Amino acid sequence: MSFRARVFGLVLLVAVIAVGATAWLTFKLATRQIDESQEKATQHVVDTADIVRSYARRHGTWAGVSFKVQELSEANHQRIRLVNLYGQVTVDSDHLAKRAARPVVSPPTLIDPRPTLTLPDNLDEQPWPQDLKAVQDVKVRGLTKAEAITLSGIRGFRQAQLLARCLTDRGIEPPAVTPDKFGIPVPAAATDTSDCAQTIKPELVDDEGGDVAAVEVCRSEKVPNPCLVRVFGERVSAFAPEPLQLFLGAVDDDPAKLVGGPMAVAAGSVLVLALAGTAMVARHVSRPVRSLTAASRRLADGHLDTRVPLVGGGELGQLSTSFNRMAQAIEASEQAQRRLVASVAHELRTPLSNLLGYLEALQDGVVPPSRELFASLHDEAQLQRRILDDLQDLTLAEAGHLTYRRVDFDLAELVETARVAHLAVAEATGVRLRAEVAGPLPFHGDHDRLRQLLGNLVTNALRYTDAGGSVILRAYVANGRPVLEVEDTGCGIATADLPFVFHRFWRADPARDRATGGSGLGLTIARQIARDHGGEISVASEVGVGSTFRVTL
Ligand code: ADP
Repeated sequence: MSFRARVFGLVLLVAVIAVGATAWLTFKLATRQIDESQEKATQHVVDTADIVRSYARRHGTWAGVSFKVQELSEANHQRIRLVNLYGQVTVDSDHLAKRAARPVVSPPTLIDPRPTLTLPDNLDEQPWPQDLKAVQDVKVRGLTKAEAITLSGIRGFRQAQLLARCLTDRGIEPPAVTPDKFGIPVPAAATDTSDCAQTIKPELVDDEGGDVAAVEVCRSEKVPNPCLVRVFGERVSAFAPEPLQLFLGAVDDDPAKLVGGPMAVAAGSVLVLALAGTAMVARHVSRPVRSLTAASRRLADGHLDTRVPLVGGGELGQLSTSFNRMAQAIEASEQAQRRLVASVAHELRTPLSNLLGYLEALQDGVVPPSRELFASLHDEAQLQRRILDDLQDLTLAEAGHLTYRRVDFDLAELVETARVAHLAVAEATGVRLRAEVAGPLPFHGDHDRLRQLLGNLVTNALRYTDAGGSVILRAYVANGRPVLEVEDTGCGIATADLPFVFHRFWRADPARDRATGGSGLGLTIARQIARDHGGEISVASEVGVGSTFRVTL
């Protein structure tokens, strides 16, 4: 995958995870907060209903509930409205506060202050009611335990309600009530500072005939308990405050808002996640770059064998490949330079040693000075100069500094000039030298450098061809490109040696070739000149048959 795609993909991954995590956390927190607020709202309705219901049970009347409602409304900043089952408003906090009525937001909740009798299944284990009236009833009328509990409950409730109502009327807070195990509200014992207890008329509490008759009706029932529960409800309902409907209005609170703390924690977590992800991506992405930087430093410090591992096929992979190729090229160039210096030293040492040896011998009088000796020493010096000249040409050419003066000229003429120039040598060595050109061959290039190239090839051909052989120079066009060719019937070059003929200082037979005055650089220079003319040089050769050097320009 490409570097850019990788970075894009990784950053996208981090972004998707971060956004996903944020969305998920926000959703979770918002859902939880909504649930909590709904739970709170429901609980609030239940709590308000409980408070209002307990008021009625404690006071035995709705009278005075408006103070309680007002207090609750002010505490909760909410409208509280109580309506009876006939639609008549008992109390409305907004009316009390003389303000515009706020809308009602919750469905009505029924507040029924009437107690419900609970007759447990294990009645046998329950004690008989202990009040005197009940004991008497049981004895005289032969009541069952359930009937006795029901009657005792009815009377107890009436008594408590009448007392509470009386106390309320007199501005005294009645004692709190708690339901006993049968569900009948029982007031806590309180010191009665009024004469209410005395004013309660016994006939109001004990509607003997009616209550007993109602209870006895249940005897005809197969299962009397549900009937007793119903009778209890009917008998006490006249004494309990009427059921009301509770409506709650909108709360004046600040609008519900999301709690910031968990959100901040969530955002912080996502931020940390995103940071960690980004750091990982940065690490992952920068690792190959860091490895390349370290490798470049090592290379700069002279460790030319430094290479970097290939990372994928994208831009970084290409960069790694380029770096390795560059390092390889630098290493190869360094080695070539070392080899060149070694070769040059080697090439110059032999003729110099020869010169030195003869000069010392002459000095010591060991060798008599002669014309032939001086000619030989002159040749050695010439060879050194040629080596140095060729080396300079080659170095300039390879560095691209060899100057070329390009002109229009005829390649056919160039071939003829080269033939004429080498004719004397050819005749001297008994080699036939001819040229085969098919008419004028116009070309644009450096006339002198191409003449040098052709000269190198012809010199070699004549050098390696024995007397009786022949050398042919050709100039023609092949596939639309001008070609110069030098063919000889000389000793030829072994197939195994062919790949090396254009290498610097390479010679098939160093001893013999040095004797013939070759620098070992001629073909290398020829190839460079050909390349500088946008061409190439090739050779075909067979040992004992001859060689053909072809320059395609
Ligand atoms: P040199 O100056 O020694 O001839 P070159 O680079 O011109 O150097 O040639 C390199 C070697 O290639 C020669 O030493 C010789 O062994 C071989 N060579 C070049 N031309 C020919 C040829 N025409 N026939 C046979 N061998 C050749």
